[in-house]
Amino acid sequence: MINEKMYGLGSKRSIIREIFEYCKVRAQEIGKENVFDFSIGNPSVAPPDEIKECINELVKNENSVLLHGYTSAQGDLGAREAVAGDIRKRFGVEISADDIYMTCGAAASLTISLKALCNEGDECIVFAPFFTEYRVFIENAGAKVVVSTPMEKTFQIDIADLESKITNRTKCVIINSPSNPSGVVYNEKTVGDVTALLRKKEQEYGHEIYLIADEPYRELVYDGVRVPYLMNYYDDTIVCYSYSKALSLPGERIGYIAVCPKMKDNRKVYLAVCGAGRSLGYVCAPSLFQQVIARTINAKVDVNIYKQNRDILYNGLTEMGYDCVKPDGAFYLFVKSPEEDAYAFFEKAKSKEILVVPCDDFGVKGYVRIAYCVSKDMIIRSLPAFRALMTEYAKN
Ligand code: PLP
Repeated sequence: MINEKMYGLGSKRSIIREIFEYCKVRAQEIGKENVFDFSIGNPSVAPPDEIKECINELVKNENSVLLHGYTSAQGDLGAREAVAGDIRKRFGVEISADDIYMTCGAAASLTISLKALCNEGDECIVFAPFFTEYRVFIENAGAKVVVSTPMEKTFQIDIADLESKITNRTKCVIINSPSNPSGVVYNEKTVGDVTALLRKKEQEYGHEIYLIADEPYRELVYDGVRVPYLMNYYDDTIVCYSYSKALSLPGERIGYIAVCPKMKDNRKVYLAVCGAGRSLGYVCAPSLFQQVIARTINAKVDVNIYKQNRDILYNGLTEMGYDCVKPDGAFYLFVKSPEEDAYAFFEKAKSKEILVVPCDDFGVKGYVRIAYCVSKDMIIRSLPAFRALMTEYAKN
């Protein structure tokens, strides 16, 4: 008998993947230019030139046996020192290479961290709307998903709701800011309130409640918005970072875990991270890209391209009567379905060749996600189809 749970996960594709695959088939049928695929969060901005130059130089000049060989399980010391130096410089946290574990992106960072922290029956709180894979990662660590309902309209964290969801079994809380799928950034006040509440609950229950900061979108923010760095607010923090979106390198699978140096159990938690990485087979992140990160730590993608897309789409859709929060970051627009059933809206949009993602699985009903990490040209060409769709709703 094989593991039925794993069979279930493998045989059922996520709705995003399902729509993405449909788009590929549809593009063959009617032409790529006639399909408006807003389904998947694949960066549309090229990686910075320095990355390409650095890869070329490494491949040309470095000893290829070493370059493509194993690194230490937790990552090459040079790469970990570069990451720690970056955190010290940008956020003023006195962190060292010994607090960093290099990973294959945020998915690995999260899976490892959850496995390191959770025991069977523990609870992990997520804030709706949330990245659907959290459920898979949390349950794989033997923990239970507890969903905290957000404030209406703004999708900021509802502190009273969060308080009502914390129990003696709460082991960790995941904060994803900027958020996939809402694009919301949790501001300083929200972060201050959440961390004050967690400290109070740690005291009340007499054990740690860890904060996991899932930060693949940290660098994608617009109009000077600041994303508070959680280690500066709360000692029991683990940061799960990724270069997938920050440097447009999702296929290269590179990121890291940073364990807050001020955490009381810092050494124990870091070693549990190493143990979880080992037990999951997530050791020795891609060696070439560890070297790339070590040498290009200050590289940045041009976020203005996403900002332009956001502005065209947000302004266009709201002017037509669609209802959504203006996202401060990431590359998603979280739009209220003009009818209660987001799936019905999805089908109507699909009939106009617009592919968006219904978000019931993200923990909020009646919304769709539009990923605007696409070409500006496609956004502009899609606007008449969005308008025709809204006009149909206005008629009925
Ligand atoms: N967390 C969130 C919120 C995401 O949106 C994603 C990917 O889209 C991930 C984690 C996983 O990122 P990575 O590609 O670095 O594994």
